[in-house]
Amino acid sequence: MDVREITNEIIKSGDLIKSGELLQRFVDECSNEKNKLKCIDLLYKQLGEFALPDYAMDFENKYYACEGANAIIKYLYFGLPRRKNSKESLQAIKEYADTIVARFYKPTSEQLITKNRIGEIIGYLDKEFNFCNKVFPKRKPIFAILDYANTHFNAESLMTFENEGADIYSIHVFLYRTKQDTDSPYKTFPEYVFAHELGHMLQTVKENQKPGTASQILTFIHKNLGLVKLDDMPPEDELEFLADTFSTGMLHQSPFAKYDPFKIIPNNYRDIYKKMITDITNSL
Ligand SMILES: [Zn+2]
Repeated sequence: MDVREITNEIIKSGDLIKSGELLQRFVDECSNEKNKLKCIDLLYKQLGEFALPDYAMDFENKYYACEGANAIIKYLYFGLPRRKNSKESLQAIKEYADTIVARFYKPTSEQLITKNRIGEIIGYLDKEFNFCNKVFPKRKPIFAILDYANTHFNAESLMTFENEGADIYSIHVFLYRTKQDTDSPYKTFPEYVFAHELGHMLQTVKENQKPGTASQILTFIHKNLGLVKLDDMPPEDELEFLADTFSTGMLHQSPFAKYDPFKIIPNNYRDIYKKMITDITNSL
């Protein structure tokens, strides 16, 4: 297969792991081409032609949810890294393809969220917090459901900025089958994983608007609830803690409360977390 044929196969495959392997072949073949940039441009252009129109033309919802082959195309288009020159681009595409092949594995019995359930959760959050209008005011997010499990994550979010220091340009979430944490006595549900990713978004949007908010919230929780030991916590754990805090607040008193895995948290803490979300969304 030449580069053009490989590009077509990547788009047609409907299988993320196969597309990852084809991307590896794309890099090999493209490295031998005289005009590498032209081949790379074609890959992005073709992926865009398949990934963008239905998303751009969906005027019905405040978000765009997809699954199956459509979710795979969105994952490839939005995830594919792009660099300044062809050498750097090919290196980045290779790393991206290697990561797909190494981390994703075929559907298992583990649970996967559905488009319906996403609709129900967002519907509740909109009613309760006006969530979409506040957190995604400019561009609707894509929630792509991928029927694979991933060795590292149950979900990944992608946030892009128009340029440095600018408002968040777009936010997309890729949801995988939900693995169970073997160290935890509690079951992890896809509904919680989704709420956790929304928690990251809420935090990022607020932090972007008012830097320092995250550490302010952590200090508040530390002082008033004594839950976090701030000195011991690495920054990346702080963000995970905050996303969990927000997801707990979102699920509290909702039809999805049973999916909150943190049974140990007293309900009056949940009241505080929910109030925090109300205050943050009101302030956006
Ligand atoms: Zn997280």
